[in-house]
Amino acid sequence: MEDIAGNIAVVQRRIAHACDLAGRNPDTVRLLPVTKNFGTDAVLAVYRAGYRRIGENKVQEALDKWEALHNTLPDLGWAIIGHLQTNKARTVARIADEFQALDSLRLAQTLDRHLRAEGRQLDVLIQVNSSGEDSKYGLAPEQVVGFARQLAACTSLRPKGFMTLALPYTGDEAPVAACFERMLQVQRQVRETVAGSWDELSMGMSGDLELAIAHGATCVRVGTAIFGRRENSVSTPA
Ligand SMILES: *Cc1c(COP(=O)(O)O)cnc(C)c1O
Repeated sequence: MEDIAGNIAVVQRRIAHACDLAGRNPDTVRLLPVTKNFGTDAVLAVYRAGYRRIGENKVQEALDKWEALHNTLPDLGWAIIGHLQTNKARTVARIADEFQALDSLRLAQTLDRHLRAEGRQLDVLIQVNSSGEDSKYGLAPEQVVGFARQLAACTSLRPKGFMTLALPYTGDEAPVAACFERMLQVQRQVRETVAGSWDELSMGMSGDLELAIAHGATCVRVGTAIFGRRENSVSTPA
């Protein structure tokens, strides 16, 4: 069993150090522990460490854990960070506090409809494919401004910003940094043309969180560095 509290302390120190180097206040970077592929004990451990929001990339897995825990931990919030099929939008509208992988208008409209039926609102981030890899979900950078404009019609969605996955970090920072820079450029374009603050930048994971913070990340999504290696997991996150 991993020392989850100890690992979180290490990650917090990494965040603090990266903020220091970037001249940023550590309070401007939120750590989202990603509990995918780990059980409810992992969720409980981060809750005990003081965290009130966790990230899950698959809806069914999130729902199973939510059903097991939401009565005992009513103040725990659930962030869905992985690609969502329209037919699962209803579950997200019911249980999620945040959805970070918004990537189509049809999905936005379906979520909006279910949210209205539930009488809920949902913080959303637009997922941007900053690496250009076919295997990655998200909108192409040049599609984002038009999409952000159209979102205004979905009044139960509260657009907060963007989420992206960089190219895998393999020792050369330049290609990873280029992804984050592309993301920043998209954020600037949207801010110039579409109402809203668009402040949130969810980027950076276990391997590249320092570089993401140097580029302005406001949320880092961390799994492996807290919980250890995932068994039976696909090597590239959704
Ligand atoms: C799994 C996952 C993460 C966490 O990745 P680690 O490298 O384990 O820290 C972050 N974001 C998304 C979208 C994920 O699916």
